[in-house]
Amino acid sequence: MNTIQFNPTNTELTPDIDYCKFGPISLVVIQPTSFCNLDCDYCYLPHRQLKNRLSLDLIEPIFQRIYTSNFLGCDFTVCWHAGEPLAVPISFYESAFEIINLADKKI
Ligand code: SF4
Repeated sequence: MNTIQFNPTNTELTPDIDYCKFGPISLVVIQPTSFCNLDCDYCYLPHRQLKNRLSLDLIEPIFQRIYTSNFLGCDFTVCWHAGEPLAVPISFYESAFEIINLADKKI
């Protein structure tokens, strides 16, 4: 699977990447928190003891980039992952989905 990491400050395409090999977007992985209350032996995730949380201010720019991307297909899956997503309150996701729906309507 080819992946492109989102960088909200970089809107330029990198010239040395063959973009024909990418897309359509099928899976978007968003880390709502770095925190996890488990400690699996095989875990790859650093800093999982920190209770960092994704700022809701980043949700709109993330989805604006997706909705306006040349790689947007008919649909895609959002996976809240890397850290324990349920360590973040439901109200975070309610706000996030409200922002996502508004970002969709703005396009
Ligand atoms: S992030 Fe996943 S793999 Fe890592 S400790 Fe938590 S549950 Fe285990």
